[in-house]
Amino acid sequence: MELALLLLRWLRDAFSGAMLPPVSEKTLFQKIMDREEPGDILYEDDLCVALRDINPQAPTHVLIVPRNPIPSLDALTEEDETLVGHLFLVAQKVAADEGLTDGYRTVFNNGSDAQQTVAHVHLHLLGGRRMSWPPG
Ligand code: AMP
Repeated sequence: MELALLLLRWLRDAFSGAMLPPVSEKTLFQKIMDREEPGDILYEDDLCVALRDINPQAPTHVLIVPRNPIPSLDALTEEDETLVGHLFLVAQKVAADEGLTDGYRTVFNNGSDAQQTVAHVHLHLLGGRRMSWPPG
């Protein structure tokens, strides 16, 4: 019995930690969706969540984020075609809800040149002021 316990302890110590697969880290937006981090969520459905940007660049600045944590626009595949269309239709709905009758802009930042900072693809919806072109 004693020996069996010792063996069990040895097995536990030998196989704990390093042998386990790493726990996958949630993205910031997943934590907000799961209510583990605060966020101002305006809309959600089975596919995506729309939340106000914490550092707004226009009177209305909303991020439309798929529940699936695809890291970037570059990582999208043909399987995501319907999802991407859905993100734009949600942007259209949120724009109407926000009263953006004079227009708005939608943006995907992709990669470092575009200054993407959160590796969970998201569509920016900006409106409520006159914008310049080209963007900075
Ligand atoms: P991007 O730079 O295109 O990856 O966009 C990331 C956006 O997420 C930026 O506009 C940030 O201001 C915004 N952001 C960062 N942290 C939060 C947060 N906790 N809640 C809402 N928006 C955030």
